[in-house]
Amino acid sequence: MTDHWYPAYIGLGSNLGNPALQLETAFGLLSEIPWTRLIRRSSLYRSEPFGGVEQPDFVNAAAALITQLSAGELLRELQNIENKCGRERGDVQWGPRTLDLDLLVYSDHEIDETDLIVPHPGISERNFVLLPLGELAPELHAPNLGRIASLDTHISDLAVSRIK
Ligand code: AMP
Repeated sequence: MTDHWYPAYIGLGSNLGNPALQLETAFGLLSEIPWTRLIRRSSLYRSEPFGGVEQPDFVNAAAALITQLSAGELLRELQNIENKCGRERGDVQWGPRTLDLDLLVYSDHEIDETDLIVPHPGISERNFVLLPLGELAPELHAPNLGRIASLDTHISDLAVSRIK
């Protein structure tokens, strides 16, 4: 815990059970993380699965938080929420999942540790991350990436559409 409030952006994804309901539950749990406030949530987006595994479409979204937790402490809170929502560690990479929470951006920090890379390396490659994050913070400048709104045109031809 720190004495400073840091902005942090979270990516949410689900494609099992009722994904939209999973994300509603996840937003509720994000708002209950200690020393943290949920500031804004994006619309929900439907996206085709990534990585070539046959599975249902995903529903994705993003959340803006401010937090007094360190990035590592925040990651543990996200993992607790994933576990509460039935995510089993050891799931196939890019396979189906009840809830996936990624720490996309944590203030202007650059972190490169074995269990935590920030900004999340998937941001610039995935429209299902860029579209909801860009809705919340188009002018955000993420370390090494630049302005979010300028990233969304050049990669991923996977279909992503706003549903709600
Ligand atoms: P995933 O299956 O995509 O949820 O990946 C989970 C693993 O990614 C965990 O072991 C995390 O420690 C690691 N990881 C590294 N950087 C991040 C990040 N920025 N947000 C979430 N998980 C991360």
